[in-house]
Amino acid sequence: MDIDIVSVFPEYFDVLNLSLFGKAMERGLVTVRAHNLRDWTHDVHQSVDDTPVGGGAGMVMKPEVWAECLDELLGIPADAPANTDADTTTAPDAPVLIFPNPSAPLFTQQDATELSHAGHLVFGCGRYEGYDARIPQYYRARGVDVREYSIGDYVLNGGEVAVSVMLEAITRLLPGFMGNAASIVEESYTGANALLEHSQYTKPATWRGMAVPPVLISGDHGKVDRFRRDEALEKTSRLRPDLIAHLDCAALDKADRKTLIALGWEVSGAHPRKLG
Ligand code: SAM
Repeated sequence: MDIDIVSVFPEYFDVLNLSLFGKAMERGLVTVRAHNLRDWTHDVHQSVDDTPVGGGAGMVMKPEVWAECLDELLGIPADAPANTDADTTTAPDAPVLIFPNPSAPLFTQQDATELSHAGHLVFGCGRYEGYDARIPQYYRARGVDVREYSIGDYVLNGGEVAVSVMLEAITRLLPGFMGNAASIVEESYTGANALLEHSQYTKPATWRGMAVPPVLISGDHGKVDRFRRDEALEKTSRLRPDLIAHLDCAALDKADRKTLIALGWEVSGAHPRKLG
């Protein structure tokens, strides 16, 4: 996977040399190029921002600088006309342009999974009050797959942290990225009928007077699986009932249904419905 990141603080991404990501770069699984947006400026102050049109506090990132940079990274001529063709389907290997933005839809595991199949990702890190809203519009109109994502309901100073979060969620799904491929199969938010993962324990079986649930050391794999599944259902029902409400009832087994009914869900329709 080829990754271009544009930021006014490209050195922020030096940390990618660490840990599993660093190993993936060494093995050639991912190639990351962090660019300084200021390299595409032409003025002596290398300015990338200007005051908001219509007034208001702060500064907004200028479209001209971003466009010079993105035209080059995306391989789009500066005079490319807007795509008026009704069919805006992009080639499977075409770059995906991603802008972190707190006022965009939430980035989810589903997005990470989808983007892990892309060959080339280009991330644009916003700063100040954000970037001129015409930038994503312009590239969308030229057939680029442009995504804007929030990583949560809070405001950061810049897009660098958000890009790091998305990058890690996406790349750990690449075949060969994780030492143990099985560890990403049964995780929170993963799969069609996603739940929160069950609690995890390691040795010793008793620590500071606290014992792990006895069934986990019973050696009965069937009982362990059922215990974990029930715990995942209970935890998800308590903390993220929205995930339970999206489950496909047809995919639930008899024991799942029994657990959900005991937790106060009605499971006779297409999706569980909370009673009371
Ligand atoms: N004025 C913007 C607002 O109120 O929505 C906030 C801009 S923020 C200070 C500057 C940049 O940080 C944004 O353009 C975006 O790139 C990034 N950013 C901040 N919070 C984010 C979040 N929750 N998710 C994704 N990106 C975020």
